Amino acid sequence: MMEKILLSSPHMSGNELKYINEAFSTNWIAPLGPNVDQFEKSLAAYAGVKGASVTSSGTAAIHLALDILNVTKGDLVFCSTFTFVASAEPIDYLGADVTFIDSEPDTWNMSPKALERALVDAKKENRLPKAIIVVNLYGQSAKMDELLAVSNEYGVPIVEDAAESLGSEFKGRKSGTLGKIGIYSFNGNKIITTSGGGALVCDDEAILERSRFLATQARDHAKHYQHSVIGYNYRMSNILAGIGRAQLEVLDDRVSKRREIFERYVNELSALEGLTFMPELEGTLSNRWLTTLTMDFKKFNMTPLELINKMEEANIETRHLWKPLHLQPVYKNVRFYKHNEATEAVCDQLFATGICLPSGSNMTWQEQERVIDTLKKAFSEKKANVSVPVL
Ligand SMILES: *Cc1c(COP(=O)(O)O)cnc(C)c1O
Repeated sequence: MMEKILLSSPHMSGNELKYINEAFSTNWIAPLGPNVDQFEKSLAAYAGVKGASVTSSGTAAIHLALDILNVTKGDLVFCSTFTFVASAEPIDYLGADVTFIDSEPDTWNMSPKALERALVDAKKENRLPKAIIVVNLYGQSAKMDELLAVSNEYGVPIVEDAAESLGSEFKGRKSGTLGKIGIYSFNGNKIITTSGGGALVCDDEAILERSRFLATQARDHAKHYQHSVIGYNYRMSNILAGIGRAQLEVLDDRVSKRREIFERYVNELSALEGLTFMPELEGTLSNRWLTTLTMDFKKFNMTPLELINKMEEANIETRHLWKPLHLQPVYKNVRFYKHNEATEAVCDQLFATGICLPSGSNMTWQEQERVIDTLKKAFSEKKANVSVPVL
């Protein structure tokens, strides 16, 4: 059996151990310390914001962001539906209700049109959301200009879920820095990783301070342990922050590498009928965290599941696109706004036809060749098997 090719696996630079060793030699084996401080500084400098508050996960960072925006029991929060469940789960942690918003075709991310309709209704019902969680999927920036314009009109802050888009840019600004608060993830499969971790980034010092306070069990300033509000244990360990420091140093290389991988897929596979790669919005740069594409069944003759199974036989991991959250059993009966009321939801169509290809920055040239050859072979075999109607 050929060695397994994974979708996206951790890619260390070699410098991680230097910072981990520093933590050991100074005995900073704690959820605070010099690596945490330096990682926060470097991340903020990279993103071009006032500061960062690093956390135990991206999910934790979203939870903190919503708490800081005073989301509480009975409140309403809007969220992209085409995403990983972690984008929305913290809404439930806080006892708030979610309304899901469809994607639009140019970016696959939140539809400004659907958002506007949802806000119009919410206003009529006298129940505006406390926050809007906009996700930048697979590295692609959402239409932030339009989304910010609508949300500002109603005075609702945007939390940018940039878990998958660290290193991407929107009109020269780093993804995750356009909303009121941005969040990143350093989970093992993301473009850089600390094995597990996340960050909240922001230009507002008070929010950053609040994030660190809440993430450290909300201890008041007192000699004894005193607590006036409920907090969390969400800070990142000084050892993991050491990994993060080294990973951040190579982030731009990782972005270039993933973009090269994307380009090669496009060059090699575009000739196959019925494949469409995820677009890149004008004025933005995607980190191409995962190469994703849709398959037109009428031309490609294969469903995503058939292709996933074919690739699996060759020990290659591919995956469906995210199953929209409004289709998830756990979110049945949740309100959902479509991009276009009269037609099928954009993200439903993407889910039904889309697939992610292996895109790790540590994938070798030969490994990518294996992916390409296996996919081409699956396509030509399928073509050959399609019975030609007898006239
Ligand atoms: C990975 C991811 C998260 C959650 O990050 P964790 O660090 O795994 O908690 C949130 N949103 C999106 C879109 C993600 O892909």
